[in-house]
Amino acid sequence: MRYSSYTWLAINEGLKSAENLALRGILITPACYLCQNEDESSSHMFFQCPFSFSILHSLLPDVRGFLLRPNLLQLFEHFEDCQSIEGAECNFCYFVICCTLYFLWRERNDRRYGGKYSTIHTLCHKISMAITAKVSKWKYFDKLQKAFPNCFFWRNYHQAENFDIPRQ
Ligand SMILES: [Zn+2]
Repeated sequence: MRYSSYTWLAINEGLKSAENLALRGILITPACYLCQNEDESSSHMFFQCPFSFSILHSLLPDVRGFLLRPNLLQLFEHFEDCQSIEGAECNFCYFVICCTLYFLWRERNDRRYGGKYSTIHTLCHKISMAITAKVSKWKYFDKLQKAFPNCFFWRNYHQAENFDIPRQ
């Protein structure tokens, strides 16, 4: 599945971030294109970057409990240890994280190589559409919609800015 394969790459430092390319002697602009502030590495982009974290927070408000913005492994550990969420919900959270990571990496490439920028809200909309498309076939769809309303809410966000997916 394409979403989780990017997460696997991110964990194994296989994404061509500025930091990973520099290790191979390839120099590109080191700054993160999402926040334009700090250096770009996998752990920064997922999810220590304020831009990335805002998106995650808009979808899964629970992550506000982190004292410092977490990296990917800390995030997965958090959902693994979380007593209040059970099997199907835990799988759902993993899926949301993988999906968010995929769209952030795409956004990073659009910005870096295409000069095309989407806002936080537009990205939340795209991610919410993708989540809905996938999860609407799951057995627990109704339950998940109640437990994680923000993941589904954003699909209804329509504003004329940079939409490149068809509206429904
Ligand atoms: Zn950043």
